[in-house]
Amino acid sequence: MNPISERIVPDIGGLPPVARGDNPRYNDVVDKLVSPDATQEQRDQAYDLVAGIEKRDQVCYTDEALTEKAAQALADDRTIPVNVSEVAPLVPPGTVLGPFASSDAAATAMMGYSNPLSIAANRENGGLVFRDPNNGQFYVSTPMPGTLDGFDPSQVPQPAGLDVFACYHGHADYSKADGTRTDAAGDEFDSNNFSPQDKRVAEGGYWGDVIYVSTPNGSFRKYDAGNNQDTRLN
Ligand SMILES: [Zn+2]
Repeated sequence: MNPISERIVPDIGGLPPVARGDNPRYNDVVDKLVSPDATQEQRDQAYDLVAGIEKRDQVCYTDEALTEKAAQALADDRTIPVNVSEVAPLVPPGTVLGPFASSDAAATAMMGYSNPLSIAANRENGGLVFRDPNNGQFYVSTPMPGTLDGFDPSQVPQPAGLDVFACYHGHADYSKADGTRTDAAGDEFDSNNFSPQDKRVAEGGYWGDVIYVSTPNGSFRKYDAGNNQDTRLN
């Protein structure tokens, strides 16, 4: 039913074809959404992916709509490193982003985005880190909401073909037990550290044997139940 080919067909007799990378709108979207760590080849792939959206849909989207569709397409593609802080707000909670070279890199990148949200809302949030057994690359899901004093990883979608490697969560703001915001001295949750329950989750291996937490003082911590090491990552 769809007559539009994904293949670029040379336009004989028309205007010369626009060379790859020449459309400034598409370049702007790539610059915004693709990580500076991406290779030139990956940037070219991203450009083709963005260009393909309007070609496929036969629509000239607003810049905003195109950027949103490109964010979802990059997330679905899973081969091009993205700017997490730009892509994460444009895709649904629980969307997997990547690739990353390590679990720590994946979790750190996402917590850089999710921790300020957790503190601002004074609610925990979190997600899962995944490993692709076929290429050894890591992926991390965009944050889903938790409560004042907990986050349930079982709500996080688990894409087929990816193994759960770890979970991450944010400890919200310093609070009294009733949820009233306070300062570090008045905090009744020991929010800058893992809770005993957090460590039990890793030791049980329910979501991998590694757990990450982001905290009100801006620290990112990792607890690895494999060696009982509790370390600060930033
Ligand atoms: Zn916790």
